[in-house]
Amino acid sequence: MSSSDHAAGRNQSTGLAHAVLAETADLPAPWAAVCGASVDVVQGKWSGPRGLGSSSPCPECRRLAES
Ligand SMILES: [Zn+2]
Repeated sequence: MSSSDHAAGRNQSTGLAHAVLAETADLPAPWAAVCGASVDVVQGKWSGPRGLGSSSPCPECRRLAES
């Protein structure tokens, strides 16, 4: 699985960007990140500026989404 299979999610309380599986990103809220964290909003691709390119991507999601 590559990072292109993930959407970028964001937890509003921590400000961290998390990776959400693309197939679950199409479902209604709530979402869960691949690291298990809850996600409040999904916005764009994990590989894009809202995900890995953001100022605070979740390290655990980065590790899990790359493997
Ligand atoms: Zn995460």
